[in-house]
Amino acid sequence: MAPALPAQPSSSRPRRALLLLLLVLEAGALGWVGIRSVLAFGDKEVTLINMGLPMIRAAIRARRHRRQMAPAVLQAGLGGFMMRKAMEKAESAEDRTAWEAWRAKLMMNVGASLAESAGSDLEFRMDLGPVWMVTQAGKVHWKLGLHGSLAPLLNRTDGARVSWPQSLRYGTLAFQRERNADGTIGHRGALAYSNANNFITNDRGHHAGHELIHTFQYRRDVFLSPRLTRLWPGLADRLDEVWFDDTGWAVNWSAQCLWAKTTGANRDFEIPMEKEAYYLADHIQF
Ligand SMILES: [Zn+2]
Repeated sequence: MAPALPAQPSSSRPRRALLLLLLVLEAGALGWVGIRSVLAFGDKEVTLINMGLPMIRAAIRARRHRRQMAPAVLQAGLGGFMMRKAMEKAESAEDRTAWEAWRAKLMMNVGASLAESAGSDLEFRMDLGPVWMVTQAGKVHWKLGLHGSLAPLLNRTDGARVSWPQSLRYGTLAFQRERNADGTIGHRGALAYSNANNFITNDRGHHAGHELIHTFQYRRDVFLSPRLTRLWPGLADRLDEVWFDDTGWAVNWSAQCLWAKTTGANRDFEIPMEKEAYYLADHIQF
C-alpha cells in the first residue's frame, strides 16, 4: 500500500471543492431517500444508504489521497455489504444467543472500518459502550466518544438504570425502565428507544433487536454523516487524545427530525432512520 502523500498547501482548494462535492452528493442522495421515504422504503433504500453512499465517498477519498479508485470503491462496497448483513443479523438478536449478537457487532465494525477507510490507509475502529478502540499506524488507542459518554449520563438522570446482563449480551450499554400502565416506557409512548450507542427497553428487554439496529446506525454515521468536527472544524483542535468525535448519528438524527417537523411527518415512524430499522427489524415495508 502506497504511503500517504504529505499535505500540499496548494491542494487545499481542490480538497475543499471535493469535500463540498461529497457533501452535495450525500445531501442529494439523502434528500432523494427522504423524498422517496414519504412514499416507500425498502431494499433499494437500504442498499443505497449502506453501500451506495460509502462507495461514492470512497471514490472521492481515493482521488483526494491519490489512490486507485476501483479498489477503494470495491472495499467500500464490501464493507457496506457487511454492514447491511450485520443489521439483518441484529434484527433477530433478541431471540438468539449473546454470541450471535457479538458476531453481528463485530461484523458491523469490520464492515464500517473497511468502508470508512476505503481510499486511504486501512484502520479499525470499534465502539464498546462509551469507549472506542481506534487503530492508527498499527497502534491501538482507547478513546472516549463525545456522544457515547454523555448519552448514558442523560439516560441515568432520566430515570433509566443500566442492565449489565443485557449490556454484556448485546455488546453495548443497555438500560431498562419500569413499564407504564399501558405497557410503554418513558414519556413519549415508546415501547423501547435508543440514544445512539445505547438503548432502553422494558424489564424484559423487548424490542432490543430494533434498537440494536439504531446502535449500528450510530457506528455507520460516525463516518457517513456530517459530524460536529466537520461542521465546526475548530473543535477538532480542542479534542485532545482522549476524545473521539462520534456525533454523526446525533447530527443525522437531528437533521431528519427537523425535516419531519417542517414536512409534518412523524419522527418516530417516518424518518429514514426509523424506516430502515422498521424495515430490517420488523419487516415493515413502507
Ligand atoms: Zn426506532
